[in-house]
Amino acid sequence: MASNPFSNAMAQLEKAATTMGLPVSIHQILQQPKRVLTVSLPIRMDNGDVRVFTGYRSQYNDALGPFKGGIRFHPDVNIDEVKALSFWMTMKCATVGIPLGGGKGGIIVNPKELSEGELERLSRAYIRAIYKYVGPTQDVPAPDVYTTPTIMAWMLDEYERLVGEHAPGMITGKPLSLGGSQGRGFSTAQGGVYVLREAVKKLGIQPQGTSVAVQGFGNAGSFMAKILEKEGYRIVALSDSKGAIVVNDMASGSLSVTQVDGHKQQTGSVTGFNGTKEISNADLLKLPVDILIPAALENVITKENAAELQAKLIVELANGPVTPEADVILHDRGILFVPDILANAGGVTVSYFEQVQNASNYYWTEEEALQKLEKIMIDAFNAVWERKTRFNIDMRTAAFVTAVERVSEGMKARGLV
Ligand code: NAD
Repeated sequence: MASNPFSNAMAQLEKAATTMGLPVSIHQILQQPKRVLTVSLPIRMDNGDVRVFTGYRSQYNDALGPFKGGIRFHPDVNIDEVKALSFWMTMKCATVGIPLGGGKGGIIVNPKELSEGELERLSRAYIRAIYKYVGPTQDVPAPDVYTTPTIMAWMLDEYERLVGEHAPGMITGKPLSLGGSQGRGFSTAQGGVYVLREAVKKLGIQPQGTSVAVQGFGNAGSFMAKILEKEGYRIVALSDSKGAIVVNDMASGSLSVTQVDGHKQQTGSVTGFNGTKEISNADLLKLPVDILIPAALENVITKENAAELQAKLIVELANGPVTPEADVILHDRGILFVPDILANAGGVTVSYFEQVQNASNYYWTEEEALQKLEKIMIDAFNAVWERKTRFNIDMRTAAFVTAVERVSEGMKARGLV
């Protein structure tokens, strides 16, 4: 049975709480979301039928600022997943030190089965259902799995119609024409690259020739693969929901990521790309590579496969890809992992930049945004590394300790505890 993401999240919190001697009152507040909305969304389908979808928004903690987090459209969305993701957002924003709390939303839907019109009606209905509880100073959504800048634009438009004014900072990941930030499209991957660079320095690895496997060739994974290829890494395996590919020559071969991208655009999948053989997503994780990048869904590295992984470094672009039991196995085996709340925080950091720019109605160049992102990511890596060394703990627990310290400060300053 797949493990429950919220139980996993609470196990991670427990470990950090024990390490740092967290007061019980703060621990208790952090064990549940402040508010969870469940909404019913009746949609007129193109054939005239009405279908009722279920949506959620979990607003976990806002001690440090407005709730912040993406909206996922996926058939497997469930309340525990949304709650876990909103908790991780709280931890993520605090790890990188931006003045935001944590939230997350989702709709149980397979968007690939919907026409564009149905998708737009669903996106607008979701905002109509929750608009009183979101907004630039309350809760700021963003894209996540299977949601896009176009969907963010529909949601912004619906929100602005309801409140009767422009409010571009109510949602991030917007198209540039509606106040999106330069760099947002690839910011999660770029942030991941900045921390990966710091991690490889600690391990004494050089980029040239180092092999990398990326699970999930979506927004986060495909940009990560492209940037790493440019930096000299050898991308040897890639995957999507239809399957995984690995180069025939693992010892010295590499994939042209741009060509794989073109192939995926034409055929709908990375599978079947020339010069590769097809393997399963499960087998991709066990390949003899130097660096493994899970960039798809959660719970893919578990106690069942953690002992078989061969990578020296894991950089978690996906949220929650490693279970707590697997953490222990990886740490005991000396495999360094950069946890999701640090590795994929580039996305929310540039979302924060987007809001800052929306608030001042003045826009930065891509170079300015990336310069600021690089500094935030490196500072966060160093803050986490310092706690890892001080407490002799794994990187995930160290990131949680960093984040919980900061959220606790916010709660204490408010007089909540
Ligand atoms: P996406 O929808 O763009 O891509 C998801 C990819 O995963 C697709 O290629 C899909 O085919 C693949 N996939 C789906 N099921 C799979 C499976 N069972 N095995 C292997 N691959 C599978 O989503 P994304 O935005 O790239 O998000 C991916 C992960 O990164 C998620 O965990 C998300 O929460 C996390 N993340 C994304 C961002 C962001 O800015 N996009 C920010 C932080 C975290």
